[in-house]
Parts: sequence; structure tokens; C-alpha cells
Amino acid sequence: MEIDSSAIRSLFIDSSLSEFFDETDLFYIDFQSSIARSCSTLRYLGYEDADLLDILGAFPVHEADRERVELMQKRIESGETDKVIDSFRVASKKDSRFPWLRFSIKVLGREPDGKPTALIGHVTDVDDLIASQEEIRERLVEIDAMRELIGAINKSLDFEETFKRIIEQLHRIIPFDRATVQAFENDSLTVIAGYGYPKSDIMGLVFPAKGIDNPAVRAIQTQRPIVCNDVSHDFPGFIAPSKDFTSLSWLGIPMVYEGQAIGLIALDSHLPNFYTDQHVRVATAMAEHIATAFEHARSHQLVTVQAMTDRLTGLANRYGLEMRGTELFQKAIENDQPIGVFMLDIDHFKQVNDMYGHSYGDMVLQQIASTIRTQIRNEDYAVRYGGEEFVVLLPGLGPRESLIVAERLRIKISQTEVEKGRKLPTVSIGIYAAVPGSLDILHEFIRKADLALYTAKEAGRNRSRVWSTSPEFYVSE
Ligand code: GH3
Ligand code: MG
Ligand code: MG
Repeated sequence: MEIDSSAIRSLFIDSSLSEFFDETDLFYIDFQSSIARSCSTLRYLGYEDADLLDILGAFPVHEADRERVELMQKRIESGETDKVIDSFRVASKKDSRFPWLRFSIKVLGREPDGKPTALIGHVTDVDDLIASQEEIRERLVEIDAMRELIGAINKSLDFEETFKRIIEQLHRIIPFDRATVQAFENDSLTVIAGYGYPKSDIMGLVFPAKGIDNPAVRAIQTQRPIVCNDVSHDFPGFIAPSKDFTSLSWLGIPMVYEGQAIGLIALDSHLPNFYTDQHVRVATAMAEHIATAFEHARSHQLVTVQAMTDRLTGLANRYGLEMRGTELFQKAIENDQPIGVFMLDIDHFKQVNDMYGHSYGDMVLQQIASTIRTQIRNEDYAVRYGGEEFVVLLPGLGPRESLIVAERLRIKISQTEVEKGRKLPTVSIGIYAAVPGSLDILHEFIRKADLALYTAKEAGRNRSRVWSTSPEFYVSE
């Protein structure tokens, strides 16, 4: 049915209903006659009757909604639609607010080219509603992130893994471009995890945390989160972890465990004035859990290292071999690289014990262990395999190179004195080295090295032998 717009106009403009429409937030615009009737909500924001004639032109909305509103306006103007219902933020003409308004608009008539001649609309202030929806959404994300974070703390005891997850969860609720986790010990802060930085740039970086005034030190000293909105300006003592990034806003969350500051999480943003009270509130709530995770991971790391270390010699033990050794072996498989394995056994060690006593024997074990350490590379892995037997893994080395290392070690041991005038006993070494295939296992390599050791002992001790199908192939005496 055709709408009689002049009848509607008279209802809005000069009937006894016009006041009622105003109070119920119905508005009317007649573009042809340039007549409009505002309503109470719009008038409250400063939009009088005449201002509404601009509704399809320069109606000021929040920047974040502009694109959406322009699209909507186009659809109305082009005749694509006669009716829209949408919410967006409209600038108040009286102050700097942008309250959310929900509009329902109906076009009453159009010119031949499609341009609307008149429309009526209804407006509702939904600012509180949307704000509380937003708040609920934020809280849900917070709760979820917190839950995940606590999950990460309970699940993962691996140090790096724990902090990777913590930073990921934190990122969901507190935005940042870059972040570091720093351990506080001996008056300095050491970077132990990062986000957004190239790993090699920051891991292990140490910042002094005494005698200077910077936000990190303040966060540690006060045990409270610290916000800076232009950090290098506010604190000339601020040390940026890397040169290629300028941090303007900085939020430092101290990790406090049983009353002691044990570390710091530092979040950086390139935007000024970025962190709000809300961020600090969330950060404070998280800090306690993060500190617990940190402490758990740290003590677990300590326990793990202890569990993998032989007490007498400080080398790895069987458990270490099982964990780290298997990892090295797996890497050799993946990289299609050889790995050398030594089995080293002290010659006539029983006699050493019998002659000089057990504690002298212990000293010999310690000396041999430290000689092994000095003769191998950082990437090699030495294990006290049994009482007086040692296993050494040499990633990347084939049989010939392994033999060279073994001989150098054997000769070094035979020349070393335990105490003045008393040399170390000699050792025999069995070697097996090959490129492991995907079905190979480390224990098979060790077994072959052990067989080679047996032939070295049989042949008279104080020598190295490489395992091969014909064990005489590489011999050294
Ligand atoms: P071989 O040349 O054939 O290897 O002779 P060996 O005497 O070394 O061989 P055997 O395996 O018979 O003896 C190993 C000795 O190592 C026996 C044991 O008392 C001693 N031993 C093992 N663990 C320790 C330790 O922790 N401390 C000391 N002092 N001795 C140990
Ligand atoms: Mg033995
Ligand atoms: Mg022995």
C-alpha cells in the first residue's frame, strides 16, 4: 500500500500526537520540504530538528563505526533497502561522548532517481546495554585466559613451554607488541623468555637491578605493577632490550612468591598512553599465578637437572642418558648425521680400590670424569654409565673422527696424575659410530660400543677399538 507521506508529516509536525512521538523517540525527516522533527534522545545529545536533515550526510559517528554506517547510508540512498535496524556510536554535540544508539529507519518515499524524500525512525540509547555486554565479553575472555593459564601451570613443568603459554594467554587479555619474562636474582634481572623478539637477541640478557631508577627496578622493589606511558622519557635509566623497537608504553608485572620478588614480566607497546587501570587490575590478578608457575617450573628444572646428574662425578647418569641422550640420538636420525658412541672402562679398577682404598678410587673416578669433560666439545654428552664405566655421545662424528677423540682422551688419561707421582689408571674404549636410521635405537649403538670395548680389553687393555663387522678394521694400540 502506498504511504501518504503528507499525512505522516502532519501527524509529526502539528498534530496533538507530535509530543507523544517526541517522548517515545520517534523522529521524522522530510528532505523535500526540509522539515524535520527530532525526538527526546536525539535532542538530549544536541540534535535539534534542523540537524536531522544532515542524517544522510554529515551525521557524526564514531570512527570505528563509520565504514559500516556509510555502507548503510548508501543502501538507503540507492534504494537497495527501505528499512534498516542497526546500532552505532553517535557523537554527542554537547560533550565528547559517543553513546551507542540503536536506530530503526523506514523510508517513506523516493524521488524518481531513488533518493529518499522522507523517512521516519525510532532511536534507543543502548549505551549501557552495549557497555555491559562488552564488559561481560571481556570478563569471559579473562576468565578463559586465566583458566588456560592455570591449566598451563599445572600441565607443563617445562620452563620454556610454561612461559610460552603464559605469555600467549596474557596476550589475549592485555595487548602488547613485545614482552619479556625476567628472573630476579643477585640484584639483576635475566631474560628467560620473550615474545616478539628474535630469540637470540634477548635470551640470557642481564639487566642490573640495583642502584638505578627504572620502572623494572621499581616494580621489583614495590612488588606492584608499574605503568609508564612514555617510558624512555619518564625514565632515562630505562634499558630497552633491543634497538630496533621503541617502546612507549610499558607495563611491568612483578612476580612475587611467598613475599619475595622472584621476577618480572615486562610488556611493551609502541603506542603512547596505552595501558589502563583495567590492564593493571588484570595484570595484578595474573601475577600471583604466574609467580607460582615460575617457581614450580624453576624448582622442577632444578630437580630435573639433579635427577639427571651423577653425584660423584657431576656427569650425567643413566636417567640423563635416557632423556637427553635419546634426544641427541633422535636428532642424528632426523638430520641424517652420524653419531659416535664411546664405552670407556677403567682398566683393573678393582686393583686400584684394593690397593689404595675406596675413597682414592672415588677420586680416580672424579679425575677421569673431569678429564673426559676437558677432552670433548660442548655438544657432546658424557654419562657415568655404571660404577667405573662411562658412555660418551659425539653428535656428528663418524668412526674415524670418534677414534681420534677416543685416542686423544685415552692418552690424556694415561698421562694425568691423581696426586703427585701417582698417575691415573689406564682406560679402554670401545667405539661405535654410524648414521642412525629411523629404526635404530641408542641402546643398540651402546651395545656395539660395549662389544668393541670387550675386544679392546681382550687385546690387552689401554687401547681403543671401533666396532665393525670385522672388528680388526680400525685398531689402535
Ligand atoms: P677390567 O680392566 O676388566 O675392567 O677390570 P676391573 O677391575 O676394572 O673390572 P671389574 O668390573 O671387575 O671391577 C670394577 C670395579 O669398580 C669393582 C668396583 O668395586 C669398582 N667400583 C664400581 N663403582 C665404584 C665407585 O663408585 N667407587 C669406587 N671406588 N669403586 C667402584
Ligand atoms: Mg667394568
Ligand atoms: Mg674396569
